[in-house]
Amino acid sequence: MGKVILTGDRPTGRLHVGHYVGSLRRRVELQNSGDYDAVYIMIADAQALTDNADNPEKVRQNIVEVALDYLSAGLDPDKSTILIQSQIPELTELTFYYANLVTVSRLQRNPTVKSEIQMRGFETSIPVGFFTYPISQAADITAFRATTVPVGEDQEPMLEQCREIVHKFNTVYGETLTMPQILLPDNAACLRLPGTDGKAKMSKSLGNCIYLSDTPEEVRQKVMGMYTDPDHLRVSDPGKVEGNPVFTYLDAFCTDDMFAEYLPDYQNLDEMKAHYQRGGLGDVKVKKFLIKVMEETLAPIREKRHAWEKRIPDVYDILHDGSMRAEKVAASTLADVKASMRINYFDDQALIAEQIKKYGAR
Ligand code: ATP
Ligand code: MG
Repeated sequence: MGKVILTGDRPTGRLHVGHYVGSLRRRVELQNSGDYDAVYIMIADAQALTDNADNPEKVRQNIVEVALDYLSAGLDPDKSTILIQSQIPELTELTFYYANLVTVSRLQRNPTVKSEIQMRGFETSIPVGFFTYPISQAADITAFRATTVPVGEDQEPMLEQCREIVHKFNTVYGETLTMPQILLPDNAACLRLPGTDGKAKMSKSLGNCIYLSDTPEEVRQKVMGMYTDPDHLRVSDPGKVEGNPVFTYLDAFCTDDMFAEYLPDYQNLDEMKAHYQRGGLGDVKVKKFLIKVMEETLAPIREKRHAWEKRIPDVYDILHDGSMRAEKVAASTLADVKASMRINYFDDQALIAEQIKKYGAR
C-alpha cells in the first residue's frame, strides 16, 4: 500500500492566506517531496452546494478561481491530480452506503458542524446535505485510499468521523478501506489563522480574509486596518502579542532572514515581541514590517497567477483530465466496497451458485 494524499477546498471564494498556511503550503511541499505515490487535490463543489444550494453560480465561478490559486501556489498538475468533486459520481454512491454506519446524534456532536450551523444562522432549518457533509468527506478521503490528509485544525472532527466510518466499515464488512491520518501544520499559528478582524478563524464566509490574489495595495490596506491589542493606545504602552493577529501572522510567515532584510533592528521575532510587550514599539511599525513579510510570499504567487489567467482553456483541461483520472480510482474503490458489502450481485459467482443449488438446476 502506497502513501496517498487527499485534501481540498470548497469553491466558495478565492483562497486566502489561512488556506495557504493551514494546508496549501504543506501540500506543495509534500507534492515536491517525492515521498507520496499519489496526491489528490479536490475542489469540493458538491460540498459547497450543501450550504449554497440557491447560489450555484457562486460555486461555478469559484471553481476556476480556486484552480488558479492552486496552480499559482505551486501545485503541479504533473505531480498532483486536481479534481472536481461533482464529476466523480462514485463519491455520492459511497456517501449513501456510509450514511448507514453513522447516527444522527454522532453528527450532532461534531463541533465544527455545530459552529458552522450557528455561523450560517441555520438554527432549525439545517439542510440535510449540509448536516451530513462529514459523511461525504469520508467518502472523498476513502475513495482515493488516502493515507494522509493535510488540513487545518477545523478539520480534526471530520477526520475523526472518517476514521470511525472506516473502522466500522472494516469491522462489519471486512478489511476494505484505508485508515487515513490527519496531518496538521507544525506551526501553532497555522492551525487556525485568525481573521484580520481578530476573530478566531480567517474564513471566506466571515469576510475577514487576505486573499492570495489580493493586489499589493489591497494587502497594504487590509494589514494597516488590522485588529491589534485594543489596550495598546500609545507607542510607549506595553502591548499584548497573544490574541494579536498581527503577531500571529508574523508567527506564520516571517523568518529570521526577513528581519535582516527589512528590519535589522531585531534579529528575530522573539526580540520584536519582547519590545512590543515592554512598550515603545508602535503598531504601525509592526504592520509595515508585516506587509513586507506577506509580500515576500504573495508576490511570486500573484505573478504566477497572472500567467495562468492567460491560459484558462489549459486550466479547464487540467481539471477535466484530473477528474477523469480520479474517477477511475474512485470506481475501483467503489467496486471493492460493493464486493465487501456483497451487493455486487452480477459478478458474485458464489451467490449465483448458491441460488442454483437452492432451487436445483433445471
Ligand atoms: P468556508 O467559509 O466556505 O467554509 P473556509 O475559509 O473555511 O471556507 P474551506 O474550504 O472550508 O475554507 O477549508 C479548506 C482548507 O483550508 C481546510 O483544510 C481548512 O482546514 C483550511 N483552512 C481554512 N481556513 C483556515 C484558517 N483560517 N487557518 C488554517 N487553515 C484554514
Ligand atoms: Mg470551512
